[in-house]
This record gives sequence, C-alpha cells and structure tokens, in this order.
Amino acid sequence: MPIPRSTVPGIITPAIPGRMASLLLSVLYQLDQTQWLSPEDLFAQQARQLRLLFAHAGQKVPFYGQRFAEAGIDPNAEVTRETFARLPILKREELQAAGEAIHATALPKSHGKRHHIETSGSTGRAVRMYGTEITGLFWRAGVMREHFWQGRDFGAKLGAIRWARKGVAMAPAGSHGESWGPASGAIYPTGPAVMLNIACELHEQVDWMLRERPDYLISFPSNLMALAKHCIDKGIEFPNLKQVLTVGETVTQQARDLVRQAWDVPLKDSYSCEEAGYLTIQCPEHEVYHVQSENALVEVVDDDGKPCAPGEVGRVLITCLHNFATPLIRYQLGDYAEAGAPCACGRGLPVINRILGRQRNRLALPDGSTVFPYFGNHDEYKAITPEVLQFQFIQHSLDEIEKRMVVSAPLTPEQEEATRELMVRNLGHPFRITFTYLDEIPLGPRGKYEEFISKVDV
Ligand SMILES: [Zn+2]
Repeated sequence: MPIPRSTVPGIITPAIPGRMASLLLSVLYQLDQTQWLSPEDLFAQQARQLRLLFAHAGQKVPFYGQRFAEAGIDPNAEVTRETFARLPILKREELQAAGEAIHATALPKSHGKRHHIETSGSTGRAVRMYGTEITGLFWRAGVMREHFWQGRDFGAKLGAIRWARKGVAMAPAGSHGESWGPASGAIYPTGPAVMLNIACELHEQVDWMLRERPDYLISFPSNLMALAKHCIDKGIEFPNLKQVLTVGETVTQQARDLVRQAWDVPLKDSYSCEEAGYLTIQCPEHEVYHVQSENALVEVVDDDGKPCAPGEVGRVLITCLHNFATPLIRYQLGDYAEAGAPCACGRGLPVINRILGRQRNRLALPDGSTVFPYFGNHDEYKAITPEVLQFQFIQHSLDEIEKRMVVSAPLTPEQEEATRELMVRNLGHPFRITFTYLDEIPLGPRGKYEEFISKVDV
C-alpha cells in the first residue's frame, strides 16, 4: 500500500495529505464500504441523493420544472423506483434543443465553480453542459477506484496511446509527464507517464513501446487490437508490460484474447463519458462491469423503457447524482449494454456484462496498412463551414472518402475546396474527397450514430 504524500513537514506516516488528496481519500474510504451494500441498500442511498437533486432541479432548472409538472411528479417528494420510472427519458436532441433552460439558474456555493463540458459530439453536434468542482471530485474518485480495483502500482510507469491534436506527442519522442495525472498525482508521488499520439503508425507505436517500456498501457480497443495483431505477426513482445487499460470503445472477447495472446497480460476496461464521469468499471475478479452506483444511476432499458433482464441488451440511460449545474436525469446516452446477473465477487454494485455500440473503424491507407483516423477537430471545420449541422465520413475504397453533411445552407465551391484541403491535410494522404448532402445522417445498427465508417476490408 503506497503512502500518500504528506503536506506537514516532519510527518511522513501516517501522512497528512493536502486538500484535494484528503477529499479524494475520504470519498474513496466510503466507496470501499458502499461497494459491498446490497442493490436495495444502494438504491436507498441513491434515492436520498436523488431527492435533493430533484428538489434543486425542480426549483432552479426551468427545463425540469416543466418536465416534473408534465409528468405529474412532485420534485420534493420521496423518490421511489416507481416515481423514478415515470420520468420521461431525456433524448440528446431534447438536451441540445433546451438551450439555457437545461442549466441551473443558481448553484449551491459549496459545489464550487462550474466549468464547460463539451462532449466530443459524435453526432457532429456537441452537447453543451456544465460540471462543477463536485462532479470533478467524483470523476477523480472514479479514476482512483479503477486503479485500486485493478491493483496497480502507483510507482510504475504509465503509457498511453491516445487521441491528441495533430502534431502533439508524435513519434518518435511522444510526450513525457512526471505524474499519472491530477487524481493519482494529488495523492501519491507516482511514477512517470508517457504518451504517444494514436495517429502514429503501428511500427512507430511498437518502437515507442520498446523504448519507453511502460508497465501499463492505456489505449482504445481498436488500436490495441491492431497493435496486438501486428506484434503477433512480427513476434514482438513487451516484457515489461503488466496490464492493458481500455477506454472509449466497445471491448470484444476478441480484443481480450488478442491482448492475452500478444503480450500475456490482462485487459482492464472501464466505461466513462464526458457527461457523467465513470459509469462502470470492470470487476477486479471477473470480466464483467460494475455500475458506479455512487456516482450515477445507470439503467439498461428495452424499447418500451422497461429494465432489461440479465442477458438482454438495451439502451443505456444515466442519471448523474451530483451534477447540480446541468442535471441529467434519465439521459439516453446513445450506447447499448447487456444487463448482467449479480457478480460472484460479492459486490452489490449492479452488473453489466458488456457495453456495445461504441465501435470505431480504422482508416485504410493506400498501401493497405491501417491507422486511427485523424480528421481534425470540430473547431477547424466550424471555422470554414459553420453551416454544417451534422456530418459523417465514409471510406469507400483505398483512395476515396465521402463526407456526408446536413447543412443549414448550401456550401459554396470555395467552402467545399477548403473542407477537402483540411481533410487531406489532416489525414496525411491525398484521398479523393466527395460530398453528399442529406436531410439527416442515417443511424447505424441499434440506432447509434457513427462518425466514421470504413467500408474497406483490410
Ligand atoms: Zn464483481
């Protein structure tokens, strides 16, 4: 067990941690106990928290004031499973259309300053909302709980191959940090952290891994699968590697098997979102996920809005328990999950077997290799084509990419040319770019929007 960093001169152990570390450790102490509560006791705790959230939302958030009234729900009354289920599901479009009415007109002072959260906007239309210092605290607590559950050594070296803006953390050097980040670093003197841009080609990623030799590697599953296949083909091993961590996309059994086959290490996944922080974390002992019930009420519901039984796949709805700035109540995230039966580990936190609907395609290059596609960031496109409301990229062949758009006004030939130049520059290859204008972007399987689809089989 590592010793937290002490802030009092002459005192090392037990440490007297700083403010953020003390807050985090006190939350983590409680989480250590609540994880063993029964599902009913966990719901009873959530219901107490929801009552305060509803009372606040009913009074201070115009959108919810109206919504509670329409549903015939008294926001000041006790919350039961029955009253909760009567609340309508909040769709992404409603959240976007609500504008300012979705934000609280006032916030309890002790929730701290609010900050913007802009979701990566997989529909091409970002969701604008606010978080608070309190939601930030619970986010960090989730980061720490995940490390604790997976038994990581904070003194070790953490490697990440993740998304970054073009030109940032590129091969061969990548970037170097002295700490694992604001959560771990607030409590412990951690080992170093190194990062490489996910847009780097696989051979560059391999060279970087062999040079940096991180103990843990975090990346997207699609990238790890490609890297694992590459390593299996070439007989490349990473002897120092102890665990692989995944975020951001669906983890398949094939991904777990490939990682095990390539490097003989386990894959530890978690499921978080910009809007609400940690939703599930993989069980320390099994390959299922435990809902982070202390942070969010997560539902998996069928087409009729009824809870799914274990083994059934349904839509994920989230209710953030602590966000008083932009309350999200029964918000339909756009992901799908398979509900699970209680876990043999004994934790009472509800179980999700797997999360679906977050597949990402790799871009096929003319030479047949694949890379994580970098199309650029949304601001770059917004600057030249503010008329584009929604978009999607489709790769049809090794040299052709289509950009599908929903626009508020037709683009000029100059705007099309600027878009083409931006795409080619970001992608780094002279693809033939075509444009298609649609009334709406068709949704993929299970109604999930996909920003990039490759139809090339490599
Ligand atoms: Zn478990």
